[in-house]
Amino acid sequence: MAKYTDADCRLCRREGCKLFLKGDRCISPKCAMEKRPVVPGQHGLGRKKVTDYGQQLREKQKVKRAYGLLEKQFRGYYEKATRMKGVVGENMLSLLERRLDNVVYRLGIGDSRSESRQVVNHGHICVNGKTVNIPSYLVKVGDEITIKESSRNLPKFAQLKDMKIVVPKWLEFNTNTMVGKIIALPKRDDIDLNIQEHMIIELYSR
Ligand code: SF4
Repeated sequence: MAKYTDADCRLCRREGCKLFLKGDRCISPKCAMEKRPVVPGQHGLGRKKVTDYGQQLREKQKVKRAYGLLEKQFRGYYEKATRMKGVVGENMLSLLERRLDNVVYRLGIGDSRSESRQVVNHGHICVNGKTVNIPSYLVKVGDEITIKESSRNLPKFAQLKDMKIVVPKWLEFNTNTMVGKIIALPKRDDIDLNIQEHMIIELYSR
């Protein structure tokens, strides 16, 4: 699968906000958005006028990059959201949140979505007792997310027991048993990114 390989911090600087792509570094003074919060490139400081289309495009890029998706995958979520009942933008965000790699990130098992994707890809995660190595797997209410028995002693996962992890209210995570649970579907209020999803819908409806 194609993937973005350039520097992650450039993406935050391009979108003008923290996308939290690099784990602990994002909350440290080393964060590029703390040190140099301007658009990358020679003319970064000079770009000012943005059209409606430009704003919509930036909003879409911001969300797409935060979840680490490519255009075709991202558009697929929009199209799926249009076929669901309810508000398209909220449906789309809910679908994105329900991706297994995002859930692993939200549970604190991975420091970032990209690391969580790797954790899933490498087969460390089980859903309802079965190994699932598909990052785009969509969780549903009642699903149990666990770290595979044979992986629990790996330093990366063993340290979770000593950590205080705050998870969104639609999730539960017991660090002693290493069992996470989906207790509700994510709602708009549960998504902490500063997103104006209506702009993305306007862009795709053009
Ligand atoms: Fe973005 Fe994190 Fe880099 Fe800061 S450290 S610019 S939040 S990826």
